[in-house]
Amino acid sequence: IKFSDLKLDPKVLKAVIEAGYETPTPIQEQAIPFALEGRDVLGIAQTGTGKTASFTLPLITRLRRGRARARMPRSLVLAPTRELAAQVAENFDTYAKYTKLTKALLIGGVAFGEQDKLIERGVDVLIATPGRLLDHFERGKLLLTGVEVMVVDEADRMLDMGFIPDIERIFSLTPFTRQTFFYSATMAPEIERITNTFLSNPARIEV
Ligand code: AMP
Repeated sequence: IKFSDLKLDPKVLKAVIEAGYETPTPIQEQAIPFALEGRDVLGIAQTGTGKTASFTLPLITRLRRGRARARMPRSLVLAPTRELAAQVAENFDTYAKYTKLTKALLIGGVAFGEQDKLIERGVDVLIATPGRLLDHFERGKLLLTGVEVMVVDEADRMLDMGFIPDIERIFSLTPFTRQTFFYSATMAPEIERITNTFLSNPARIEV
């Protein structure tokens, strides 16, 4: 199977080919068709498997239709640490380079001012650590009622870091109709419980 068999947006495909990828990794080959059908995806995968592209490519493909409104991000990607959030943002920039999609990276240790401006303008993709996202929410700077797609990356590390209550809160602030991509290297009981609560008939993919 080739990337061109996956029904990705042509502009996304162009960026992927330019990145030098020849074939999809197993998680990409399995997750992307379900993601493009609108299904929720539960990915049980470690770093290094190509999991970031497995959610970023269908996310960009989906968001190509439509336009962001002020203070209402269209999608949300949550990562446990600043470094991981920054890596997702870099991946997004690579794969979205031929599109006009916009992003904001909300991480701690950075002034609120620039982040506020981006959100105010309207972004397609908000990439954040859970605490920082909730800080912005509490400050009344954004609404999550327009979120079409939510991604939780490295949920097992979120659990280790005590972020599960934040994740539950964030889920509950987004619409039930959202599409959800949820990734974890392991399925601890607490993680299983969250997926049972917040994912809807997910395609479960283990690599
Ligand atoms: P990840 O598991 O998302 O952290 O990705 C691990 C690394 O694999 C990253 O450096 C990606 O750029 C690279 N990568 C992702 N998908 C592919 C692919 N289909 N072919 C070659 N490299 C890839």
